[in-house]
Amino acid sequence: EERAVLDAWTGPAATADGTPVKLLANVADGKSAAIAASGPVGGVGLLRTELSFLNRQDEPSVDEQTDIYAAVLEAFGEGQYVVVRTLDAGSDKPIAFATKEHEENPALGVRGLRLSFDNPGLLDRQLDAIAQAAERTGTETWVMAPMVATVDEARDFADRVRERGLKAGIMIEVPSAALLADRMLEVVDFLSIGTNDLSQYTMAADRMATDLAHLTDAWQPAVLQLISMTARAGQRVGKSVGVCGEAAADPMLATVLIGMGITSLSMASAAVRPVGAKLSAATLETCRRAAEAALAAADPLAARAAVRDVLEG
Ligand code: PEP
Ligand code: MG
Repeated sequence: EERAVLDAWTGPAATADGTPVKLLANVADGKSAAIAASGPVGGVGLLRTELSFLNRQDEPSVDEQTDIYAAVLEAFGEGQYVVVRTLDAGSDKPIAFATKEHEENPALGVRGLRLSFDNPGLLDRQLDAIAQAAERTGTETWVMAPMVATVDEARDFADRVRERGLKAGIMIEVPSAALLADRMLEVVDFLSIGTNDLSQYTMAADRMATDLAHLTDAWQPAVLQLISMTARAGQRVGKSVGVCGEAAADPMLATVLIGMGITSLSMASAAVRPVGAKLSAATLETCRRAAEAALAAADPLAARAAVRDVLEG
């Protein structure tokens, strides 16, 4: 019977006591955006722009990029917003026109925002296209950079985004950025935690290595601590701190994240219903107790068991 209640959930997302929860979608292009927009979401928490360019040899013109981004933005309207991530090329997502050819250690190499260090024009042209798409569609547009490691990088990126009249943020996916969340929030408008890479870099375990999956697990206590620190930094200054990695798509972990004070959860469209249903069955107070239980646990297995106890208790 409980199963049936959860399966029948259609939104809008809220905890059992009626506290609204912001659920967002991870999308790649106009097509996946249209699918996402048909569900109970507040917009897009992660547009992975690099996925449109995986098979491109040359950099698309600003006009062509504008059309691609506008196709996503136009799927969302009043009261919704779209977080566009700038090119996250490199490592597991090589892009012919952007990434270096031979790197000893591509996951620790020139990827994400680092590509703009010696090629700032690539970033500036993408930001021009994003700004033009925002203007054309009128959709509220936030812009964030992947793979930020220092406050200087965050400040420089935010300056470029704000020059174009858009809201600026960074992803938290490197432990250095999580440890400096307070200082990052002095220079940006919002944070979004990428738990896939944050787990990889915290645990020093390749996210593609299936035999290390027990390490690249957001339920690891060290990863949970970094997420919690980042959420609290956001709460102190009243700025948004979302999660857009796979962790947000795990219904039980979603209750933990909301209990930590995370302000939005962004996930593949298919995960929105199970996550929304799970949250609708727990009060905010229960989510807070779930977060405490997870943070106190010694390992991922114990954390999952402790949270299950709280949620069923
Ligand atoms: C992440 O690292 O968690 C993330 C959302 O970005 P991607 O999976 O695209 O690296
Ligand atoms: Mg990432």
